[in-house]
Amino acid sequence: MTELVVLSGKGGTGKTSVTASLAALAEAPVLADCDVDASNLPLVLAPRIQHHGTFSSGLRARIQSSRCSVCGQCEELCRFNAISYYESANDDEAGAFRVDPIACEGCGVCAHFCPEGALEMIPSDGGEWFLSETRLGPLVHARLRPGQGNSGKLAALVREKARETARANGRELVLIDGPPGIGCPVIASMTGATNVLVVTEPTVAGKYDLERILALIRHFNLPVSVCINKYDLNSAMVAQIERYTAELGATTVGRIPYDPAVTAAQRRGISVVELNQGQAAPAIVELWKTLSEKCLNLTPGHYQPISAG
Ligand code: SF4
Ligand code: SF4
Repeated sequence: MTELVVLSGKGGTGKTSVTASLAALAEAPVLADCDVDASNLPLVLAPRIQHHGTFSSGLRARIQSSRCSVCGQCEELCRFNAISYYESANDDEAGAFRVDPIACEGCGVCAHFCPEGALEMIPSDGGEWFLSETRLGPLVHARLRPGQGNSGKLAALVREKARETARANGRELVLIDGPPGIGCPVIASMTGATNVLVVTEPTVAGKYDLERILALIRHFNLPVSVCINKYDLNSAMVAQIERYTAELGATTVGRIPYDPAVTAAQRRGISVVELNQGQAAPAIVELWKTLSEKCLNLTPGHYQPISAG
């Protein structure tokens, strides 16, 4: 099975636009959006949810008020200031200690030392994952709840569900829209992948972020290709990026021009190759042809240029 992760090193380079177009060009892919903090691929693919599951990012403390003697020991012990005393609104009733579920780090110290055994550790509600049908194939995506950690764990879950879906349906290609940056979710989305495509742009910041993501990918020893988006904005920087990419043994597989059709496609909720207007669409078709034949070793039949529309 081929598992291609599309990364960028930072947000805003056009990574999701490129991924959505590759999804339209590839034959029978399974799609995954590992950007669990802010998934964008569903905005383009209008998913119809078929299955969903909950995600627990760890444990959280919960006070069973019926057993609590309001001694205050847990508040003193918690290093994260996650337990506080609240006065009752009713003068006749005593106040109570409560756990702030966002501040709680799940260390378990309070539960260990509570003299009444009133604190229990329960799985946190970290978010949800979804398996959806889209016009371009099955899509696995997720939503991490605000303030929850472990986005890497949820990204790994999304990647694993996509693999399961591909195996169950006999599909050869998993196409992953990776998270921005170089942090834990990026590492999780790359683990076990077979190929990486980095989408960059010809700016000083773009080159800096490209260097960071290529350095990270080197640790995984994965074949990496680079695509330069909006290449016509700065030809001198394009030359620098291509030189740097070649020095690292990576391949520049495509140059995509700046094209207002990309924004027009986003407004319509479709990929730019589906819109098939302007200069970006044919450039992405060429990019996919090069990538699939030369880097992914997919047979030529595995790309389907979109007809003019
Ligand atoms: S340590 Fe236990 S009994 Fe004491 S306030 Fe906390 S929960 Fe209540
Ligand atoms: S589990 Fe740890 S972080 Fe959470 S409330 Fe208890 S002591 Fe504080």
